[in-house]
Formats: sequence, structure tokens, C-alpha cells
Amino acid sequence: MRETQIGRLRERLILEASERMSKPRTFVQFAGMREADEMLNDVDGYPHAFVVACIMDRQMKAERVWRIPYDLKHRLGSFRFSDLANLSLHELEKAMKHPTPLHRFPDTMARNVHSAVRRIASQYQCDASAIWADSPSSATIVRRFLEFAGVGQKIATMAANILVRDLRVPVSDRYSIDISVDVQVRRVFSRMGFVPDDASEEYIAYRARELHPEYPGIFDLILWELGRTVCRSKQPVCDKCHWCDLCAYAAKVDARYEWGKLETGRC
Ligand code: SF4
Repeated sequence: MRETQIGRLRERLILEASERMSKPRTFVQFAGMREADEMLNDVDGYPHAFVVACIMDRQMKAERVWRIPYDLKHRLGSFRFSDLANLSLHELEKAMKHPTPLHRFPDTMARNVHSAVRRIASQYQCDASAIWADSPSSATIVRRFLEFAGVGQKIATMAANILVRDLRVPVSDRYSIDISVDVQVRRVFSRMGFVPDDASEEYIAYRARELHPEYPGIFDLILWELGRTVCRSKQPVCDKCHWCDLCAYAAKVDARYEWGKLETGRC
């Protein structure tokens, strides 16, 4: 019975995510600030802004990180690639730190961005969009991101997923776009019954590959959005959740209600 529900839940999640992707591209709210988001959505004019933001996406709230290219533009007076390429490491460190630190690790991030600018200049002829140009395979995009200092598998697959899912960059396949495991994705995936509570990141990644090998990262956005809204860590609001009828956690709450252990049920 539970296996059937899991199968139906998987199908519905894939269907909903696929439907979202079949619609025309919309403006992506990365930072929740218009000017900052305009730079990030302009992957033809400012492709390096997207790369720089991805590199810094560590141990800070996502919205704050996505603002950093815009904040740097103001501190430096420009975010054109030719101007960034002329900056010394010291100048970047100063811009990252003064008057207030833009990141929790401003020195490390300044070093990583300085190195990224050099890499974009030498490997991609000063045009970061060459990282994803000409419909490469998803593995190629992930591998190219992994070559940047400070980028691990998690950031590289997240970058590839945003490019493909949100910015609609054409690719020849999606096999190597894994699920990006964060606290929201982990909690919702587990509550739905796909993985145990204490599953490792590797386990979760393989479970997503098992569920949808053609594009394991397809589950990311729906799970993440649920985790930030109705499926919060304390008191998930199952009666307002679209997935309530198939969710394992909601079914457990319902069973406790039927046994008289709770005053209200789920959906
Ligand atoms: S039904 Fe409840 S536990 Fe399940 S995903 Fe929705 S909010 Fe989370």
C-alpha cells in the first residue's frame, strides 16, 4: 500500500515539476531585490554575476548571497567583466569587507572570486556564458563548475539545475543534475516517506537518482518551496498542503487521530 502511494507521489512530483518547466521562462527572484535580480537574470550580459553568486553560496541565507554581485557593483563602481579582471586581490578583499563584510568569510570569498575571474578570462575568453554555451551535457556543466576554487559537488549541481530549470539554458541531457540536499529538501523528502530521517546526503542523492534517473534534480524546487512554507520544521501545516493525501507523515498524523490520540487530523 505504502509503496503504491510512494509511486503515485513520485509521479505527481515529476509531473508538476515538468509542467512548470514546460511554461515560458519567467523572471527569477534570486535575492528578492529587483536590481540585484536583474543582473542575475541577465545571463547573456552578466553571466559572471551568476557564477560569482554560486561560488559564494555557502553558510549564508540564499537571498543574502544572491545580492552580493549587486553590492559589489556598487562598491566597485562596475561589475563589467573587463573591470573585474583589472582588480587586484587586495582591492577585491577591501570591497568584500568594507564598510561591512558582504559574506561570513570575506577573505576566502574574495580569493575564490579573484581566482574565478582569472579562470573565466583564461578558459572562457572573458565570457562566463561559454561555460554552458552550445547545449553541453549536464555532466560538462557540473564538471566545469567544479573546476572553480571553492566549488564542490553541491554548488556545481545547484548551478547546473538553476541554469537548466530556471534560466532555460539548453543542454543535451539532465542525468548529472543531482538533487541539492539542504535542510528543507532533506526534511520534506523524509516526511513524504522517500528517505529515512537520518539519511546521509549520498543516500538522498542516490534515492533521487533511483526515482528519476533522467533528471534527479527535478525534485529540488518543489521540496525546497514546501520546506520554506507549509512543511516547516515545527508543526507542518498538512491541511494546507497539496501533497497531503499521499504524504507518509500526514498519514501517520491521520492514524493517530483515528486512534483518538490527536484532536485534529490531517488534510
Ligand atoms: S503533508 Fe505535511 S508533512 Fe507532508 S509535505 Fe505536506 S506539510 Fe509536509
